[in-house]
Amino acid sequence: MRNLYGETIENLKQQLIDAGFKAYHARQIFEWLYKHQVQNIEQMANIGKTLRQYLKTHYTMTALPVFTRQCGQDGTCKYLFKLHDEHLIETVLMRHDYGKSLCITTQVGCNIGCAFCASGLQKRIRNLTPAEMVLQVMGVIAHEAVTLTHIVIMGTGEPFDNFDNVMDFIDIVNAPYGLEIGARHITVSTSGIVPKILAFAERPKQVNLAISLHAPNNTIRSRLMKINDVWPIETLLDSVKTYIEKTGRRVTFEYILMRGVNDSLQHADALSDLLRGMNAYVNLIRYNAIDEFSFKSTPHDRAKAFHDRLLKRGIQATLRREMGADIDAACGQLRAKTDPNVKDRPSRKD
Ligand code: SAH
Ligand code: SF4
Repeated sequence: MRNLYGETIENLKQQLIDAGFKAYHARQIFEWLYKHQVQNIEQMANIGKTLRQYLKTHYTMTALPVFTRQCGQDGTCKYLFKLHDEHLIETVLMRHDYGKSLCITTQVGCNIGCAFCASGLQKRIRNLTPAEMVLQVMGVIAHEAVTLTHIVIMGTGEPFDNFDNVMDFIDIVNAPYGLEIGARHITVSTSGIVPKILAFAERPKQVNLAISLHAPNNTIRSRLMKINDVWPIETLLDSVKTYIEKTGRRVTFEYILMRGVNDSLQHADALSDLLRGMNAYVNLIRYNAIDEFSFKSTPHDRAKAFHDRLLKRGIQATLRREMGADIDAACGQLRAKTDPNVKDRPSRKD
């Protein structure tokens, strides 16, 4: 059986037509799922009995069980959901002054294996389905009774290594009659899979693109991210320029500051030279230390000096406030690690 939460409105329309029903029911079903957030098909009151019966025999609405929920001092909450095949995946809710954003996981494990990232310690076991991504959103909404304003596709996994499912996920959460999360409020982050960046450029939606750059030259980047040997910085930036030309949209470059690795003022200068003239901005993030790796975070004052240098050289940049570090929910700390002390604590509303 298919899960209703995994269907785009277009797919659902087609499936209904194929089964002899009218296409407009797809819109009604979306409203029940995402506006009224009903628990079962029986509650879809304005849908006739025959269609309800058809839906019940062909679709489920099975949610993802919450395995644990942990909240940190800054209000960041990390959810561990259990998949039907027992794998655990993480989803992180962040509360900002401008709204609430949810960080979505796209794969169990990640094959890119960046040298600094906890998520990449586990090789990809499988891709998540669109339903498993949408159910992360619905699970957190139901549990917290919150309205989400932003979605960041930056949890475990490389979204462009699961391209079609991630695109369906975006279509579902963005759809009219559904959650209607604005495309401009959705960000997808990639380690730099060039053919998929070019494919993404062809899509009409105004979704934000973030590129994990993390280094000002190929020597350092190849050390940190072996994907750089496949698509080195020049090739990557060419694809990003194509994306900017085609979409007219600004791109974000993520740059993790690691002590003694990529955080000197010379590195800042090299980075400015690389990005000069591009419609782009740099998101600086101080590295979150991971037990298994020896990389260290750049001290605050050095990070600030790096930031200032970029600004002085005419590059737009922000030094991001880190959220959720106390509960291992910060970038790169996601790896479905369970803390034995919280495992048996029932999840609860605040
Ligand atoms: N796979 C995608 C998206 C998930 S990772 C990507 O790599 O872009 C989300 C972001 O967290 C990436 O920019 C990644 O490089 C960064 N990240 C990984 N490990 C980190 C760590 N230990 N500290 C800070 N950021 C980290
Ligand atoms: Fe995978 Fe992104 Fe982590 Fe690299 S940084 S291992 S691409 S999740």
